[in-house]
Amino acid sequence: MSRQISSLLAIAVVCVTLAPTPALAQAPKKEVDCTQVKCVALTFDDGPSKYAGQLLDTLKKYDAKATFFLEGQYVKSRPSYVKRMVAEGHELGNHSYTHPDFRKVEKWDVRAEIKKTQEAVKKAAGVEPKLLRPPYGMVDLTVSDVAVEFGMPIILWTGGNEDWSSKNATAIKKKSMEVAKPGSIVLMHDWVKQTVDSMPAIVKSLQKKGYHLVTVSEVLKAQDVKLEPGDVFPVPAGWENK
Ligand SMILES: [Zn+2]
Repeated sequence: MSRQISSLLAIAVVCVTLAPTPALAQAPKKEVDCTQVKCVALTFDDGPSKYAGQLLDTLKKYDAKATFFLEGQYVKSRPSYVKRMVAEGHELGNHSYTHPDFRKVEKWDVRAEIKKTQEAVKKAAGVEPKLLRPPYGMVDLTVSDVAVEFGMPIILWTGGNEDWSSKNATAIKKKSMEVAKPGSIVLMHDWVKQTVDSMPAIVKSLQKKGYHLVTVSEVLKAQDVKLEPGDVFPVPAGWENK
């Protein structure tokens, strides 16, 4: 390399290094009005998984919000992700401590599972989840009674991307796009690596279609859904909220 070229390169390097970073104009936080624009609530169950950091990076990059239905045992082992979820504006829900089918365990056990998770989240992030999603979405009157004790409505989903079953990125993306409709609550899992890997593409496609990615509570608010503790949403066939 000639001396001249190398010194030019040296100058270029210095220029790049010294070039001031463009001031990132901190736009005032604008509220998304889901009565005016299309919104969808992506929900991630069973975490925080070991991929939660990667998922949070994607959500942050695209200014997307999500709702995490957390499993207490992983809240305990990965508290920093939970803290980050709260700091970055995501919503948290309780998804039990060890993921039993609530219909097959005693009432005191349902209560203990929920309580331990509330405490773990509080310890990790200083807040307590206000929503409950029972494992497998399995709910009965006992579960509803216990949810009342904790002051929590029960949130199921309007559609899922079936990631746990396919574990296939193409299928996951296709199904995610299929079930995302205005006001949808979409079930996904952050322990499925293919879901987390596909999230940049899924979020970009949704945003391109005009969707805003918001929390469950924002979707409910826009639909004027007011849930009492113990109520179930969406209401499953044969279930009547009082
Ligand atoms: Zn689950």
